[in-house]
Amino acid sequence: METDTITAISTPIGEGAIAIVRLSGPEAIPVAASVFEGKNLLEAVSHTMHYGKIIDPETNEIAEEVMVSVMRAPKTFTREDIVEINCHGGMVSVNRVLEIMLSKGVRIAEPGEFTKRAFLHGRIDLSQAEAVMDLIRAKTDKAMSVALKQMDGRLSSMIQRYRQDLLETVAHVEVNIDYPEYDDVEEMSNEMMQQKTKEVHDEIEELLQVAKQGKILREGLATAIIGRPNVGKSSLMNSLVQENKAIVTEVPGTTRDVIEEYVNVRGVPLRLVDTAGIRETEDIVEKIGVERSRQVLKESDLILFVLNNNEELSDEDEKLFEAVEGLDFIVIMNKMDLEPKLDLKKVEQLAEGNPVISTSLIKEEGIDELESAIAQTFFAGEIDTGDLTYVSNIRHIQLLKQAKQSLEDAMASLEMNMPLDIVQIDVTRTWEFLGEIIGDTASDSLIDQLFSQFCLGK
Ligand code: GDP
Ligand code: ZN
Repeated sequence: METDTITAISTPIGEGAIAIVRLSGPEAIPVAASVFEGKNLLEAVSHTMHYGKIIDPETNEIAEEVMVSVMRAPKTFTREDIVEINCHGGMVSVNRVLEIMLSKGVRIAEPGEFTKRAFLHGRIDLSQAEAVMDLIRAKTDKAMSVALKQMDGRLSSMIQRYRQDLLETVAHVEVNIDYPEYDDVEEMSNEMMQQKTKEVHDEIEELLQVAKQGKILREGLATAIIGRPNVGKSSLMNSLVQENKAIVTEVPGTTRDVIEEYVNVRGVPLRLVDTAGIRETEDIVEKIGVERSRQVLKESDLILFVLNNNEELSDEDEKLFEAVEGLDFIVIMNKMDLEPKLDLKKVEQLAEGNPVISTSLIKEEGIDELESAIAQTFFAGEIDTGDLTYVSNIRHIQLLKQAKQSLEDAMASLEMNMPLDIVQIDVTRTWEFLGEIIGDTASDSLIDQLFSQFCLGK
């Protein structure tokens, strides 16, 4: 059986406050110990966590401040020795830690390889392993087709088209200003400019929307289950996991027991996340207050907010409603088998248009409705995945957001009737942001292209 040691970043890249580099295999602990400044990890008790620094062996510099968990075989997910290095996150530092591990002769894990080892070592059974592999494959297939589309040049041809539209607009204004005597060139009006900027703006917005769905397909929908104690959060988690093929990535131990669980609800991969250590949130609002809870909950793509139908709405429930206001949430009125004491009208009013679903988790009722609501929340209007160009690159998404913002600035100026040569500054900036996506940033090419648009002087 496998005897080498593997490593991978086991949290989604670029997301969240911490990122984890995981190692599994006979060399996991010695390799980590050899670059760790702090407690001697070789002597660390199993299932303990240690603060320290990762030292780059080449430069002897501190690469990252970390918390390291040491878990010794066989009571681990893979039944091999496991080390998890919690980094502060940020691509740079986590990649650096990964590179240091690789420089120590540890091999990068293939997709699903930790799970495969768990199966080979009898830690999970075949159906569990298959479920994991299915999901990984499904996720990879979709991600693959996204990547293929991008290579196909679909994104860049769309970007080029937007840029062309913007360029024509800018050129038009420029000509009006510089060559007022060319009266065969129609005067660009505020309305024409408004229409052009709105067209491109809406297309970028759509691309960003699709990017969000693409991200969900790749990474799963970060989902938090919240509610007061005893309302049925664990029951909900269990029923979602039982009804659907689930991946439970489990690291048994004293420090932490579950990292992430995936369930596939009607094609929507849910990642039941441990949001800042509060996956199943009982007293989050009590503990850290409404404002900070909001900050934590904002990191989720979806919040499942459970209420007890057998009890009247409490202050705590109302505080939770405050904490989720404006976020994507579904209210679950659980324990419908018991005497109803919740005021449905009031709950619907607090839900502000978000779905309100009744369930009896103990009788397995209402789960279908809940699953439909989950699917609808994110696939509203049904997306045909085959037809869309996904934008999956974080840099591209960032630039698209900036492009959209500067178009919004232009639109606001137009709204206020600012002169077009002022508005055009924002339009030009949009053109530049879009140019960065396709690697065309030379700003003097704007001038060249401006003149090639209108063959002036000929
Ligand atoms: P949590 O504290 O929010 O995680 O709640 P649990 O899921 O642990 O459930 C608390 C208690 O409520 C348990 O005894 C469950 O069996 C019970 N419970 C959960 N769902 C229902 C339901 O739909 N009806 C009834 N009658 N009891 C339920
Ligand atoms: Zn619970």
